[in-house]
Amino acid sequence: MKKGKRQFNIAICGLGGMGNWHRQTIEKIENLHLAGSFDIDPARQKFAADNGVHVYGSYEELLGDDSVDIVTIATPNDFHKPLAIQALQAGKNVVVEKPAAMSSAEFRAMADVADATGMLLTVHQNRRWDDDFVTAREVFRGSMLGPVFRIESRVLGSRGIPGDWRQLPEKGGGMILDWGVHLLDQILQMVHEPIRTVYATVDHVTNELVDDGFYADLTFASGLVAHVEVGTSHFISMPRWRIYGRDGSAEVNWGSTGRIVCVTDRSNEDAVPIVTAAGLTKTMAPRTEDTIKTFDLPPVKCDILDYYRNVMDAIDGLARIEVKIPEVLRVMRLMETVRLSAESGKVLPFEEA
Ligand code: NAD
Repeated sequence: MKKGKRQFNIAICGLGGMGNWHRQTIEKIENLHLAGSFDIDPARQKFAADNGVHVYGSYEELLGDDSVDIVTIATPNDFHKPLAIQALQAGKNVVVEKPAAMSSAEFRAMADVADATGMLLTVHQNRRWDDDFVTAREVFRGSMLGPVFRIESRVLGSRGIPGDWRQLPEKGGGMILDWGVHLLDQILQMVHEPIRTVYATVDHVTNELVDDGFYADLTFASGLVAHVEVGTSHFISMPRWRIYGRDGSAEVNWGSTGRIVCVTDRSNEDAVPIVTAAGLTKTMAPRTEDTIKTFDLPPVKCDILDYYRNVMDAIDGLARIEVKIPEVLRVMRLMETVRLSAESGKVLPFEEA
């Protein structure tokens, strides 16, 4: 235990795939002790016991444990609101998995209870600690690319939506609520400007009831466009990030591999046209090495364990909470605008709160 910091006890509600990730992560964090877990599925209760986790017989029993300071909720999305409200009202600090709720209205109701009870409510937007994101943000903030006019953030898979609750609208399924919430949150953490408009389309390649992919173009006040894309039927993928500026372009992939390419000579005297049978183009001629310079991506440091360290520090008033209620609300509203744009086929204004 680090000197000067007290120990926190945490309990997990919903010990499925992600709940188990929380279990394993919590075990690595100094000052954080896993008090136990509860899951409605007896098989997951057994899994917990088999792994040496104290098993609560009910959610009420978990909430009745006075030693528990923090409850992490990692159930399917439709249960986030009622379980979070119940925990807040029981005097617990709450970490809820993303998406925070099924809608902005639901999340507002949760935030109201946090406000009324004075307990901490935050959301597990863990992808803010992903090294590809932290690297892309560092490149965007730096000056190497010159003024940035376009950011592209993509996750493209080819395995469809996992065959569980993620396929059901009433459980909060679909890719906008799944990966979309991460990608949109990351962009808003990167570009600190009001959003002017949103244009989006959604895919229904493998699923009728929920979106199995989407893209959204967000135009910010300065004119910068962020293109966010999630796909689950893409057998040829694309880089995780592309950032385009006047003076250079950057590519960042999972694991923070990639490069920055900057122009050193704009004279165009090197241009050898691309010739096809149907014509030629000098505009699209590739660059020769003597007119550009390639750089490595900047090294970044990020540690996902900082997520829970920040939650503990915020509860004790030692730090501001990283994932803040107004930020989460803005992303929830943005996802709703993405959906509305796709439904209407229109470019929609985004009303900043
Ligand atoms: P999952 O289906 O693997 O696990 C959900 C678990 O919740 C199951 O074991 C289920 O029995 C249990 N459960 C359902 N209702 C419950 C209730 N009322 N009380 C107690 N337990 C209940 O799903 P998952 O993939 O672990 O996803 C869970 C949550 O985590 C979702 O909100 C999802 O969006 C989120 N998630 C986040 C990330 C991330 O990187 N932040 C990654 C994956 C999933």
